[in-house]
Amino acid sequence: MKVKIIKGTNQIGGCITEITSEKGTKIIIDFGEDLVEKKIPVEIEGLTTGISSYDAVFITHSHGDHIGLVSDINEDIPIFIEKETKKIHNLSSDFMKDAKPIIRKTEIITFGNPIFIKDLKITPYIVDHSAYHSCLYLIEGDGLRIIHTGDYRNHGRKGVGFLNSLKKIGPVDLLITEGTTFGRSNDEFKTEDELEKEAYSIFEMYEQVLILQSSTNIDRLVTFYKASNHTKKYFIEDLFTATITSHLKKTIPSPITHKNVSVWITNNYYKKPSALKEMYIKPMEQYKKSKPFHHDFCMIVKPSMLEDIKEKLYEKGLLTNACIIYSMWDGYLKEESIQNFITELEKMGVTFLKLHTSGHADKKAMKQVENIIKPKKIIFIHTEHKEMANEIFQNIINLEDGEELCL
Ligand SMILES: [Zn+2]
Ligand SMILES: [Zn+2]
Repeated sequence: MKVKIIKGTNQIGGCITEITSEKGTKIIIDFGEDLVEKKIPVEIEGLTTGISSYDAVFITHSHGDHIGLVSDINEDIPIFIEKETKKIHNLSSDFMKDAKPIIRKTEIITFGNPIFIKDLKITPYIVDHSAYHSCLYLIEGDGLRIIHTGDYRNHGRKGVGFLNSLKKIGPVDLLITEGTTFGRSNDEFKTEDELEKEAYSIFEMYEQVLILQSSTNIDRLVTFYKASNHTKKYFIEDLFTATITSHLKKTIPSPITHKNVSVWITNNYYKKPSALKEMYIKPMEQYKKSKPFHHDFCMIVKPSMLEDIKEKLYEKGLLTNACIIYSMWDGYLKEESIQNFITELEKMGVTFLKLHTSGHADKKAMKQVENIIKPKKIIFIHTEHKEMANEIFQNIINLEDGEELCL
C-alpha cells in the first residue's frame, strides 16, 4: 500500500490524502480548501481533470477545509459522504457567497458499514469533533490496516464512543491523524460538559446572552441551549442556525421541534437573493415566536446582524444586562468583521466574554489514541508544527506534501 499526502503536511486545513493498493486501486480522503485562500482550485490529473484514474473519494466531515473543493471532482468518480455531512455542506453553501453545494450523485455512508472499492475495504466510524457526524476511516487492503482520523477530539459529548470504536478496531499499521494543536500551549482542554457548567454561571449573571459560535457546531449549540433552559431563558436562533438545526434529528433544538426555541430573521437575510427567501425564509417565518425579547433570552448571533441588534434591541431598551460570549477559535478574533461587531456591541454596554473549548485533539487525546491502536507508524497532517510530534510520539514518518510512503 502507498500513502501520499497531496496537501496538509505543513498547514491546518486544505487536506487531501491519497491511498493506493498494490493492484493500483486509488482513493482520496478529503478534498478540502485552504483556510485562508479558500477557493484556489487544486488540479489533479485523473481526479479533477483528464480521464478519471481514481476509484473513489471519501469525505470525513463538513468543514470546508475537508470538503470545500469536492465539486471539482470528475463526475464519474464516486464520492462517499455521510448523510448529515452532505446536508450541512449543502445548506451552508446556499447561505455562503461563492460556495458550491453538491448537486451531483453521491454515495451515502453509514457508520460501521464497510464499503468495498475493488481490493480495498473502507469502514467509517463516528468521531468526536466540532462538526456534526464527523467520521474516521479504517482502510484495509494488502494485509495492512490504516486509520485516517480526519479532525477529532475526545473531550466532547462523543468522546467516549470514539475511544470505544478505536478499541474495537484495535492495532493498525499506520495512523494518519491531525496535529492541529501542536504549537499551542494547552496539553489538555476542558470538556464540553465542563464548559456547560461554566455557561450556567454566566447565564445566571446576565439577562440577555448573545452567542457568537459556529452554527454547525451542534455540540456547542446544545451546551448553550442547556444553559439557557437551566436559567429559564428563551433560546433564539438566527435564520442560518435555525435552518441547520431544523434539518437534523428532532432532539437537536430548533424552532420547529422545540417550543422554547424561536428564530429571528434579521433584515440582512431579506436582502439575500430571492431563491434563498423562497427556500429558507418563507418556511421559517411561521416559527417566529411572539415577543421572545420581552423575556430573558440567549441568542445565536452573527456580525451581519449588527444593525438589527442596534435598532431592534439596543435602541428599544431591550439590552438591559447583556453579554456576548465568543465561543470559537481565538484566531477568528483577528477578522475585521468580528472585531468591529464586538467593539460596536461593547459601545451598547454589552460585556464581552470568552467561553470555548477546542474541536481538536489535545495531547492527552493523541496519546490515548496511540495507546489504543498502537500504530506501527504515524503521519501527522493538519498541522503547522509536525516537528513537535517527535517530542511526544515515536514511529513518526515526516512526509512533505506530495511525498510517498510505501508500506
Ligand atoms: Zn480541519
Ligand atoms: Zn474540522
